[in-house]
Amino acid sequence: MKLIEFFKHYPDEESCKIAFKSYRLQEGVTCKKCGSTSHYWKKNREQWECKSCKHRTTLKSGTVMQSSKLPYQYWFIAMHLITSTKKSFSAKEIQRQIGHKRYEPIWSMVHKLRSVMGLRDEQYELGEEIELDEVFFETVSITRDKTEPLKRGRGSQRQSTVLVAAESRVEEQNYNPKKHRTKKRVGYLKMMVIESLKKEDLAVVVKEKVKKNTKIVSDKSNSYNNLKEDYNLDSKVVPKKEIINR
Ligand SMILES: [Zn+2]
Repeated sequence: MKLIEFFKHYPDEESCKIAFKSYRLQEGVTCKKCGSTSHYWKKNREQWECKSCKHRTTLKSGTVMQSSKLPYQYWFIAMHLITSTKKSFSAKEIQRQIGHKRYEPIWSMVHKLRSVMGLRDEQYELGEEIELDEVFFETVSITRDKTEPLKRGRGSQRQSTVLVAAESRVEEQNYNPKKHRTKKRVGYLKMMVIESLKKEDLAVVVKEKVKKNTKIVSDKSNSYNNLKEDYNLDSKVVPKKEIINR
């Protein structure tokens, strides 16, 4: 959704609240006390009341917005900025765009949104065709004594191996040979920290995240050997130049 369309849909606090209520109703409201899903809507209080036990549920309770005092529109703007652009928005930038004085509540909102989006990502299984690759990250423990300079090979620093799985699909529609080198487009992407590149460790992670019988394109490495039974493996030979540029 473009910014202009976003503000047509959600011009003010009231429209965001109404939209939020209807999205919530699509999921259904479950009483925390007795588990019933039948409720009355108490308009003057803006709460649901359980038909069986009279327990009340506020609009925000049980959602990512629970106990937040921020306006609905802030949440909607933040969700829009986080999801609609390729650029990643920092909490600081979102605070600037919204024009809110205090950083802490905005940081907390963005953090909550990212974590529920992460949960959704967790549930998503990659399919169709994916490309697998490994990358290495230097990770530093956050409990490190900040007065000490970082040294290579210290105990608090370690190299993590991360497996990157990207859905790639061929797209005929928007392909422009002058602009795009290939017809392939990246879809959903997952990054997973793995214990090691041993084929056993790698297979455990992949089987958890990638649907069976998916076509997997990877470089020709023995690490992928344990995937042969469940997946359709396609090894590419990576040209030397590509390795250097990575
Ligand atoms: Zn109830």
